[in-house]
Amino acid sequence: MPHYCCRCGHHPLVRRVPDGDTHERDCCSTCGYIAYDNPRVIAGAILEREGRLLLCQRGIPPRVGTWTLPAGFMERGESVEETAHREVWEETGIHAEILTPYSIFSVPPTNELYIIYRARLLGWNDAPGHETQAVDWFRAEEIPWDAIFYPAIRQILERYIDEHAGGTYGIYTGSMESGTIHFMR
Ligand SMILES: [Zn+2]
Repeated sequence: MPHYCCRCGHHPLVRRVPDGDTHERDCCSTCGYIAYDNPRVIAGAILEREGRLLLCQRGIPPRVGTWTLPAGFMERGESVEETAHREVWEETGIHAEILTPYSIFSVPPTNELYIIYRARLLGWNDAPGHETQAVDWFRAEEIPWDAIFYPAIRQILERYIDEHAGGTYGIYTGSMESGTIHFMR
């Protein structure tokens, strides 16, 4: 959190529960500004084509060289589906149709909410953006499991591979450690 008020520049901010509020916030005693620090939304997608899953390899720090699903922070003015679509486009050069939610999980330690959709390939025309070193489609047995940094992403891939075999996809909701898989009937 910033220690200076981003409205008037006063410092330090005071940690207290504002009148009528329920949580402690960083508050400016000069201008009354309250620095809310609510979770940030990260959206992305899992795409499959002929039994292969799309992964991208990080080209910028942190963790250059590790593989992950295309995903990134929601921008002001976007819907979460638009974020997932844009991130797939920016990180892989792929134009995707965003389908159903696949995994919605909170990460309280980093103050983040991840929303990963299933998506369908519509086409690809562009080279991946500068944040991506490489983009590739992997069969289950080809996935570079040791180079996937986030356990939650590994779990999404493992579950997708299992469910793909049966042709029915659930929706996970919970935290990165524990949650529930819901199946639509
Ligand atoms: Zn202030």
